[in-house]
Amino acid sequence: MHDSLHTSPRPAAAGALPGTDLAPVRQPAVEFRDIAIAYGRFMAVRDFSLAIRKGSFVTLLGPSGCGKTTILRSIAGLVDVTEGQISIGGRRVDDVPIYKRNIGLVFQSYALFPHKSVFDNVAFGLKYRKVSKPEIARRVGKALEMVRLPGSERKLPSQLSGGQQQRIALARAIVFEPEVLLMDEPLSALDANMREEMRVEIKKIQKETGITAIFVTHDQEEALSMSDQIVVMNAGRIEQIGTPEQVYAEPATAFVADFLGKANMLPGTVAAVDGLVATIALAAGRSVTALSPRVLAPGESITLVVRPQKLQVAAAGACANRLAGKIVSTSYLGGSAVYEIDIGQGSVVRAYALIDGKVAREGETVEIGFDPAACVLLDAQGRRIA
Ligand code: ATP
Repeated sequence: MHDSLHTSPRPAAAGALPGTDLAPVRQPAVEFRDIAIAYGRFMAVRDFSLAIRKGSFVTLLGPSGCGKTTILRSIAGLVDVTEGQISIGGRRVDDVPIYKRNIGLVFQSYALFPHKSVFDNVAFGLKYRKVSKPEIARRVGKALEMVRLPGSERKLPSQLSGGQQQRIALARAIVFEPEVLLMDEPLSALDANMREEMRVEIKKIQKETGITAIFVTHDQEEALSMSDQIVVMNAGRIEQIGTPEQVYAEPATAFVADFLGKANMLPGTVAAVDGLVATIALAAGRSVTALSPRVLAPGESITLVVRPQKLQVAAAGACANRLAGKIVSTSYLGGSAVYEIDIGQGSVVRAYALIDGKVAREGETVEIGFDPAACVLLDAQGRRIA
């Protein structure tokens, strides 16, 4: 739907992003300043500036290839930065080798030593740091309790489920109390139920330990449910930095609106204005009213962003904007349904409805509605009008 809108506009600079929560972070746990990273001639990341608050859970979210892993690896020292500076705990780490950066790592593949016991796997980083034997035993026991696998010291990884192995990998990463915990898609090898359980578990451990966590995922639900801050990335750049609520409710760009929650994007032109209320002639051939944060100019091209949850199906009659449409697909989810509705000129919108009775089927004509305040407006460049 409206594919032309899905190409992302380029923000001028990371610090000038609309909708970005830029409250200054004092003494950030990790700070990126104007980072660019190239692989040969290919620029994988550019204009990347970010200050991460100590003790926070920050997620790098974006599609495959957008540079998330590259950023994560640069913190660990596994990738050299081409331009800019990275600081950890206020110290620049450009010349600090990997083994001297105090960082815990968890990967998608658990990367446990298959022939070593759980104890030896978890103790690995401590032995390497020359911690005494009794202290190693104490700390391994504590880390295993934390990941809810106490008493598993003698088992081999092969005797554990995927979720349990990932818990061991987590115990190994936190056992030496690193300054920062880096997690690269740690849940993607797990089945759906286990993923949900581990989301809660990881978040709980992060809060209990107060560790600064940086998490990489392309899964918006993981990002929304776990993070204090989400950094939405696209093609090597930051699109938006904000809390989960900010990036969902106030997407800074068309890319963010589409990537998080598959928003309906309806292009149109401002037909008339009355203060902050504008009448928009939609390309789909209908007129609707929208509340704008600034006075729009007649003739301006804009895009209306409406979340599927904000499109009323059953209660459309009570809304100021009402459109008739034909259902082209119904996905019944038990208690709720997602409808795809053709509102004319080939424009298909998605509506999420709670079901309390009959489910509407393909081919039925329905009325959908939304309120003027229920949409976000993007300008001709695809940036949110603020
Ligand atoms: P995914 O979710 O698929 O892991 P990502 O967002 O983590 O993607 P990166 O792995 O950081 O993306 O890769 C960013 C870009 O850099 C991609 O286009 C990738 O092909 C390229 N890239 C990554 N590693 C290398 C490398 N060692 N040499 C050359 N190009 C690389």
